[in-house]
Amino acid sequence: MQSIHSKLIHGQSEIKTHGPMRPPIYQSAAFEFETAELLEESFRGQNKLPAYSRSANPTVSELESRLKILSTARNAICMSSGMAVVNSLVLGLCQQGDNIVVSPYLFGNTVSYFAKTILPFGIEVRFTDFSNLDDIANKVDEKTRLLFLETITNPQLQVVNFDTITKWANERGILTCIDNTLLTSYVFDARQHGFDLEVVSTSKYISGGGTSIGGALLFYETLKYEKNSKIRDYFEKYNQDALFYKLRREVYRNMGCCLSPESAWLQILGLETLSLRADKSMSNAQKVAEALSVNSRIVKVIYPGLPDNEYHNLAKKYFGDKHGCLVTFEMKGKKDCFEMMNKLKMIKRGTNLCDNKSLIIHPQSTIYCEYPDETLQMCGINDRMIRLSVGIEDINDIIDDLLNAIG
Ligand SMILES: *Cc1c(COP(=O)(O)O)cnc(C)c1O
Repeated sequence: MQSIHSKLIHGQSEIKTHGPMRPPIYQSAAFEFETAELLEESFRGQNKLPAYSRSANPTVSELESRLKILSTARNAICMSSGMAVVNSLVLGLCQQGDNIVVSPYLFGNTVSYFAKTILPFGIEVRFTDFSNLDDIANKVDEKTRLLFLETITNPQLQVVNFDTITKWANERGILTCIDNTLLTSYVFDARQHGFDLEVVSTSKYISGGGTSIGGALLFYETLKYEKNSKIRDYFEKYNQDALFYKLRREVYRNMGCCLSPESAWLQILGLETLSLRADKSMSNAQKVAEALSVNSRIVKVIYPGLPDNEYHNLAKKYFGDKHGCLVTFEMKGKKDCFEMMNKLKMIKRGTNLCDNKSLIIHPQSTIYCEYPDETLQMCGINDRMIRLSVGIEDINDIIDDLLNAIG
């Protein structure tokens, strides 16, 4: 049995060509069929031949196949971005009057999507503290279609007790989805911990170094679709694969949120080195957190790999010795944060995460700049916070740059 490192490099390609070591980029909107019968079968979903790249493209299918190897998911659909995946998921599962129960500690645009974008469509989003099972239980009712949370939240870096939540939800037939972008299945195995669905923004680790935008939805075994009237007809036909086909043959296809074959190609390349880059950036992050936590100008360091972090035991239980590449720390106030950021020479000021380069941002004045104080409070954001996404540079260069800037 090959290890995950080898499987990600070689995939299980169904593309049969002689010659190239890399899968070709199928830069074509549509595909030619040998017979009218084959074309009909393709439209009816009776063969796997692609007809039009908005629905399926062989380069994108190759990325999907490799993501299935990584995650052991039953199905995967790659999309144009992580946000497209969140949107497809909600539109696939919910109709007017339904609700979803989500953590307030989420990626900034996901908060915006839940708090603003889908509200006028009559889908209610109930923000809930996922570290408290009673709180979840109080928010869930018969119209709840999904529980949605992230593996390590950003920038609070909260980790919750996943097994307790999924066990509770599984006993009640409620679907659960984890956004596993910050760790990927390489570090956190969502299936093993009872999740039905997984969102991953491939723009981050999987892109190979901030090369492209993309996202994937991964589907694990579950029979919970039976309870959802919106996809009951798909359940009768496709059973475990009800949501996959609902999206593939309808929502995803009709929204037009397909991934481009060039981006898929870059992300296939990125997957090949995922384990190397994740190991390096996460071990760098651990050392950065340790160095910052003994610096007197730093008020607070938040990193689940630090023994005194409130989530350390949960992080160790679920992620072993890998605790992500994000380090959040606090200085006295916004002015100190900006002064420090402006003195950095190697670390780049910018958004994005899990890049090869170390990236730094002040979340309150950027990602969260549109929100009123009460939302900032709900999301645990203050103006003293800095978020650092640690890259794969030499650890001494990263720490030197930070210490020089901190002064
Ligand atoms: C970046 C990110 C997203 C959104 O992904 P895009 O590809 O930027 O649309 C969602 N969740 C998390 C945790 C992210 O980091």
